[in-house]
Amino acid sequence: MSFKITDECIACGACEPECPNNAISEGEEYYVIDPDRCTECVGFFATQQCAEVCPVDAPVPDPDVKETREELLAKFQRLNPGKAPA
Ligand code: SF4
Repeated sequence: MSFKITDECIACGACEPECPNNAISEGEEYYVIDPDRCTECVGFFATQQCAEVCPVDAPVPDPDVKETREELLAKFQRLNPGKAPA
């Protein structure tokens, strides 16, 4: 499932450069994650980089966007053609 950023976000911007899929951008009130680009970091890292760097634990799994690991890997391949998953 994609991650999402809750309204706990203090808009510090720490997460944006850490996302390997460029899924994070500044929204109207706080940062947002594009679910079409979030792979939960599958293919790159074992942990979610946005959640790792967030000082207020604002990035959380989005229960409304359920995806299997296979689906996340397929998204990784679509977003990063030719790249081998880590
Ligand atoms: Fe990006 Fe990974 Fe966070 Fe998803 S979980 S938004 S891929 S850093």
